[in-house]
Amino acid sequence: MSDLLLNHLGGAWHAGRGAGTALFDPVLGNELVRVDATGLDLAGGFAFARDQGGAALRALTYRQRGELLGAIVKVLQANRDAYYEIATANSGTVKNDSAVDIDGAIYTTGVYAKLGATLGERRFLVDGEAASLAKDGVFQSQHLQVPTRGLSLFINAFNFPAWGLWEKAAPALLSGVPVVVKPATATAWLTQRMVKDVFDAGVLPAGALSVVCGSSAGLLDALQPLDVLSFTGSADTAQLIRSHAAVAQHSVRVNIEADSVNSALLLEGEAPGSAAFELLVKEVVREMTVKSGQKCTAIRRVFVPEALYGAAAEAISARLAKTTVGNPRNETVRMGALVSRTQLNAVREGLKGLQQQAEVLHDGARHALVDADPAVACCVGPTLLGSRTPDSAARLHDTEVFGPVATLLPYRDAAHALALVRRGGGSLVASVYGSDAGALATAALDLADHHGRVHVVSPDVAAAHSGHGNVMPQSLHGGPGRAGGGEELGGARALNFYHRRAAVQAAPAVLAALTA
Ligand code: NAP
Repeated sequence: MSDLLLNHLGGAWHAGRGAGTALFDPVLGNELVRVDATGLDLAGGFAFARDQGGAALRALTYRQRGELLGAIVKVLQANRDAYYEIATANSGTVKNDSAVDIDGAIYTTGVYAKLGATLGERRFLVDGEAASLAKDGVFQSQHLQVPTRGLSLFINAFNFPAWGLWEKAAPALLSGVPVVVKPATATAWLTQRMVKDVFDAGVLPAGALSVVCGSSAGLLDALQPLDVLSFTGSADTAQLIRSHAAVAQHSVRVNIEADSVNSALLLEGEAPGSAAFELLVKEVVREMTVKSGQKCTAIRRVFVPEALYGAAAEAISARLAKTTVGNPRNETVRMGALVSRTQLNAVREGLKGLQQQAEVLHDGARHALVDADPAVACCVGPTLLGSRTPDSAARLHDTEVFGPVATLLPYRDAAHALALVRRGGGSLVASVYGSDAGALATAALDLADHHGRVHVVSPDVAAAHSGHGNVMPQSLHGGPGRAGGGEELGGARALNFYHRRAAVQAAPAVLAALTA
């Protein structure tokens, strides 16, 4: 039997009392490790995190907590090779795709380490200017942001075991709030290993960082009024979380990052083969194939002017045909596996559903697998679908197939294009391609209320833009409606979630003493 990963809770390591759930190599099919959270004292462990971890973190200044993040970056860098090995084995990703997760995690933590230095020797944030509440300003109101005395519970998705932890933990720890992470079971190994490495290095105070691997049973019941809960995953699980009794009873602050049917839009006036056209084609192919399309930000719908439907289908398909799929250990392979058999089946089912309203422009099933047994490996080639009747194809606007799948859709004019994009019901990101700065700005503004991020690609940023699907810590991550309504990252904005805002009403002398 494979090794059982330990949980870290209440300042100590614990084995679950059950037989555990096995994690597999999605390419070779062998069992890797097991996880189990049966019998853990969740209430006791959560209390330890709040009382010990929270108190120790809050005693530090932002600068000191930034230094802790800097020390974490060093630990993660020192163990990077081991993380790549775990990612290859457990996520089935090629090196470049593992980097999106692992190096993305390290970079994001580093950005928040630096932010700590700029926030300096304070232990709370001053929010705006004082406002006068009485004649001559003798009584005033000053807003403050203070770290919550609760803990932050992260329930994470399977596709980013490294980045998914640190993009949340870095702002939480910088805010002075302890973290308990529950990674998705299928890929929990990498998250657990990172927590273990940070623990072994003795970087953080006891109780500041805990990990529970296995079932989520009982986790939400252990939440208290000042805790915060950050969830990343499917819209279905998000709905369960939002309506959980403990969340409702204690007004636990919740952030949801859910699924999304993101768009790429080529504006009118761009000829086939033009710079903007080629940039769209390149980005669509990249988004479909990076991490085998298992990215919440991946492009799912591609909008082009009606006259360019054929040319776009041809250009995207030609590039997709060159994608080698299979065992990530083979250097010729560009796209590895889906994360599990369950995901492979879900993608196949999802494709069947989309095909009822779309034609196949490039068939992923025709890709032969390199160095991988199709009976075992959870690998599938990229599939481009298309529909010439996007108005009546409702499914294409509301179904996220979490794999290497996108749909090409033609539009009549700008208003039609923008209306079709909005049929996603709120997404994480839309990217817009063109060469007319005015038209690009107009489209970006029009789409902003429906998206957490609008990524604008013009030929002058061809080499510099950060990528449709790449989540940069400086920019907001999240989206309204369908995307969950959450907000993460966005530089210092991320700290808001872990702080409580309060207004102190007092004489100017008291406020001066407070903010001195
Ligand atoms: P999922 O099935 O919803 O699972 C997400 C997490 O919730 C896992 O840790 C899971 O644990 C846990 N969970 C399941 N049932 C639960 C319950 N009743 N109570 C509390 N926790 C529960 O999602 P997934 O399949 O891992 O991830 C894929 C989805 O995530 C995609 O739809 C993708 O779009 C979305 N996603 C969104 C973002 C974003 O930032 N917006 C990022 C990445 C992924 P177990 O694994 O143990 O079941």
